[in-house]
Amino acid sequence: MVEVIDVRGLERDKRISYIFEKLEKEGELDVIIETEPKPLIKKLHDRGYLVKLKEEGDHVKLEIREPKIIPGSCPGASTIFRPSLEIVKCPHCGADIERWTDEIKGVCENCGKEVIFEIDSCVQWCEYAKKCLGDKYEEVMQTLEELKSAKSKIVDVRKYIKMEEVK
Ligand SMILES: [Zn+2]
Repeated sequence: MVEVIDVRGLERDKRISYIFEKLEKEGELDVIIETEPKPLIKKLHDRGYLVKLKEEGDHVKLEIREPKIIPGSCPGASTIFRPSLEIVKCPHCGADIERWTDEIKGVCENCGKEVIFEIDSCVQWCEYAKKCLGDKYEEVMQTLEELKSAKSKIVDVRKYIKMEEVK
């Protein structure tokens, strides 16, 4: 059973040290607190803990669980942490293009057109991505957003060309 502690009666500046003291002994902990404690959650994340927040009536419960992932250790994160070179085909002219696996855009040396690359990584959907990527998380998510908007700007013109029947 995970121990539950209620820190609402404690002075605010004593809470964090108390919680970490407990965590060192117990490994895992449920904490009852008035509202989402952002500085505490940040400290917990920095130490690699998983934190789940549950609203329960007039208070929230933090479920603090032991770190289970070493940042960057997942194969999906390695394309971002340790980019490697790969060869992709230019969608415009079919020429080979070298790209780093963490790059989202490049220019084809053969035809000079801009090419949007795929980032094929589980960080797009993995619930532990934030923990796994650590400091890189924000940056990567922004990159993925850019990728999405770049893609949405590509219009398949074939849809708008009416094929005229040749008689
Ligand atoms: Zn090309």
